[in-house]
Amino acid sequence: MSGQINAFEMAQKQFDGVAKQLKLDPGVAEVLRWPMREFSFRIPVRLDDGSLRVFQGFRVQHNDARGPNKGGIRFAANETMDTVRALATWMTWKCAVADIPLGGGKGGIIVDPSTLTVNEKEEMCRGWVRAMWKNIGPRNDVPAPDIGTTPQMMGWMMDEYSRLVGQYTPGVFTGKPLGGGGSLGRTEATGYGVIYTVREAMKHLKIDGKNSVAAIQGFGNVSQYAAAGFVEMLGGQVACVSCWDRHDKKAYTYSKKGGIDPRFLLTIVDEYGTIDKAKAQDAGYIVEDGDAWITKEANVLIPAAMEGQVTSDTVGKMSKNIKIVAEGANGPCTPEADEFFKKNNIFNIPDFLCNAGGVTTSYFEQVQNDMNFYWSKEEVLERLDQKMTSAFNSVVDRSEKEKVYMRDAAYMVAIDRVVKAMDLRGWLTGNA
Ligand code: NAD
Repeated sequence: MSGQINAFEMAQKQFDGVAKQLKLDPGVAEVLRWPMREFSFRIPVRLDDGSLRVFQGFRVQHNDARGPNKGGIRFAANETMDTVRALATWMTWKCAVADIPLGGGKGGIIVDPSTLTVNEKEEMCRGWVRAMWKNIGPRNDVPAPDIGTTPQMMGWMMDEYSRLVGQYTPGVFTGKPLGGGGSLGRTEATGYGVIYTVREAMKHLKIDGKNSVAAIQGFGNVSQYAAAGFVEMLGGQVACVSCWDRHDKKAYTYSKKGGIDPRFLLTIVDEYGTIDKAKAQDAGYIVEDGDAWITKEANVLIPAAMEGQVTSDTVGKMSKNIKIVAEGANGPCTPEADEFFKKNNIFNIPDFLCNAGGVTTSYFEQVQNDMNFYWSKEEVLERLDQKMTSAFNSVVDRSEKEKVYMRDAAYMVAIDRVVKAMDLRGWLTGNA
């Protein structure tokens, strides 16, 4: 599905629509619809068999008016510069809507990390840093994990950067392992953040969480804790989760009568988000095709795997009872799907609001690194809940005030904040 969709064209299309509604100066719009800086580089890696292979790396810095660029590094076989551009752009809006003092960045390497040994992964991580270290840092660009990258990898990357600059610099990467500069609560942050916004949407729409059912795409970092949070915090049921099976090279949907048990599935999923199919079947799970997740009977849809999944082709397959679409992934719903949601009065929690919990906790991690003083998990999650609730409320308020769709309202809040920061820094007067 995602192969046909250019995520950057989608990000620009969304931005253009709102820029028009905001009557944004065309010059200012031109600044914001493209990244400010882009890096494309080659990373030579000596493989364990002795051969030398060269991998393609990227980093895009979209806008740093509000603070250092911030955003993950993705290791994926289908990574492209346009995907990285789109994700960097969305990071600018995400940090602005969450009201954290950071800008938008994203990076990646074209590689399937599951094909690498531990040693090769470490070499790849250190190689990425050797290519980029002069252009990243706690005061200009702070990367983090994303699809295909892990806390351990952030630890290696932080170590390589610290060696190159000659001093321990934990705040250069976030999402680091606990005990290696990481923050408690970071693992759960994005998924729980999704659920804090779903909880607020349910309050807003007067929906009872205990009578709610979610259909979730993905069973990686975001979807694992969104599933757990939906059951444990809202008292609801999760009809299904899905995953890409890296052994069979295809996606599957896992469901169970009475709802799946996220904590059980957590015990049989690997670090790449592939559920052990045989163990799931032994435990009574029904395994269907990867597309089945969207058809499941539910009132909340949480696409939390990857971009371009809810499209003009798939949106009509959704249960007629869906009232909330909570975008755990970045860019999971196309503009055509948005039109369907608008027509059918489906409440959308847009990606850069819904999944802002990860970057918010990354920001908390950086703050703790700077202070060299670490908070308890309860403190992290409490602060996260406050930030997510306040971000949700500012978007709902704008949506009601301007009578606009939630995604447009989120863009309006974010664009206003970024434009204000550019203006206050004198970037728009011609003297900067
Ligand atoms: P992950 O790699 O941990 O998990 C991705 C999951 O999606 C895996 O279970 C994988 O098997 C599954 N998947 C991949 N392709 C699929 C397909 N075609 N059908 C069904 N399942 C499929 O990644 P993640 O960190 O959970 O990120 C998921 C999404 O959320 C991405 O869009 C990412 O950019 C976004 N996001 C992540 C974070 C974070 O903190 N991890 C923060 C914000 C946004």
